[in-house]
Amino acid sequence: MKVLKFGGTSVGSAERIRHVADLVAPRGKNIIVLSAMSGTTNSLVEIAGYLYKGNPNGAKETINILESKYLKTIASLYDKHESRERALKEIKATFNYIRSFAARETFGPAEEKIILAQGEIMSVAMMVLLLNERGIYAEQLPALEFMKTGANGEPDTKHIRLNLKPLLDKYADADIFVTQGYICRNHLGEIDNLQRGGSDYTASLIGAAIEADEIEIWNDIDGMKNNDPRFVENTRPVSELHFEEAAELAYFGAKILHPTCVLPAKVNNIPVRLLNTMEPDAPGTLIYNNITQPAIKAVAAKDNVIAIKIKSSRMLLAYGFLTRVFETFEKFKTPIDMVATSEVGVSLTIDSERYLPEIVDELKKYGTVSVDRDMVIICVVGDMDWTHTGYEARAMDALQDIPVRMISYGGSNFNISFLIRKEDKVAALNRLSEYLFS
Ligand code: ASP
Ligand code: MG
Repeated sequence: MKVLKFGGTSVGSAERIRHVADLVAPRGKNIIVLSAMSGTTNSLVEIAGYLYKGNPNGAKETINILESKYLKTIASLYDKHESRERALKEIKATFNYIRSFAARETFGPAEEKIILAQGEIMSVAMMVLLLNERGIYAEQLPALEFMKTGANGEPDTKHIRLNLKPLLDKYADADIFVTQGYICRNHLGEIDNLQRGGSDYTASLIGAAIEADEIEIWNDIDGMKNNDPRFVENTRPVSELHFEEAAELAYFGAKILHPTCVLPAKVNNIPVRLLNTMEPDAPGTLIYNNITQPAIKAVAAKDNVIAIKIKSSRMLLAYGFLTRVFETFEKFKTPIDMVATSEVGVSLTIDSERYLPEIVDELKKYGTVSVDRDMVIICVVGDMDWTHTGYEARAMDALQDIPVRMISYGGSNFNISFLIRKEDKVAALNRLSEYLFS
């Protein structure tokens, strides 16, 4: 059994929803994970925003606009009158439920999360009716009955496994299963979610829970590109990636896969394939635990990076200096991306301004601090095993005319990162493509 996930754009209109049904029907007994129709979650966030501000009329107006979009979609989605009527009934009931929050006295995070969950719930309801009308026995697996996070906010993988299996057994006759991405219950049993973009994570968690043969993430592009197509011409999809390479790329800017999605698949050794709904027979990108040919696979950039340098003569031959530096970031809950050290100083990068003044203030206790804003991390991913020669040299060669503020190499076998100025980003990405991929 496979898990096939379709994002918001893939189910963004009646036509696209029918296209997904065409794709999944012949592929057999799999679990289909759906996002909300594109724009829906944003609208639901907006509705909740009005309710937080005590403006029920603002909320109702946004609800009406969103509802009419769904009613229009349903009007052209089904062939049979009966399916259309059933879909209308379900969707109208959902919108009336959302409206009921506008009449409540109080509104808080628990109510907000209930509202945010409705987009995925509607996608699944609409898809199940569509598949059924085509004579396919599609069964809904309600995510709220098995997808759960624990007290630490992390997915409770044991609970997911133990509650999903019985559902699959209960509907053993089904031709296909459909479930909601993104939504879950938290440790209190309340409706919650896996954060924005979390449907990829759902797919990966389900894949791990059922030990799926493969997790397929369907998008509108041909897999993961070897460079950023917004800035570089002639990018190509990467045919194979190691999980660690995919994790680096997803984190450092390749928007195609949510970074959290990689871990459950990697740990359980389940291949992830990135596919294109527009070109379903194209091979896409396969992400798995194998290292294939040693090669440089792809380049990605992460914007809005801040570099902080702490220089201290006291660092010389002293221990504890780095501990104090890192503890400062821990204290202000600010993750560090890149690090480079020398005997007299350390440079590191963060991507949030939020506690920058406090952090800098505290670091001044330990040394002389300087800050560079508007920096970009260029991440080159591929075979960077230190025993293999030449790969890092080629990446550095490509950047020979570009001022490089920091280099990080050796932290993983799959990555070398360069910190450069924002204004050099496009040139750097293009140089790298020229030197590495042409
Ligand atoms: N619908 C959710 C969002 O827009 C989850 C997802 O699409 O992955 O963030
Ligand atoms: Mg997405």
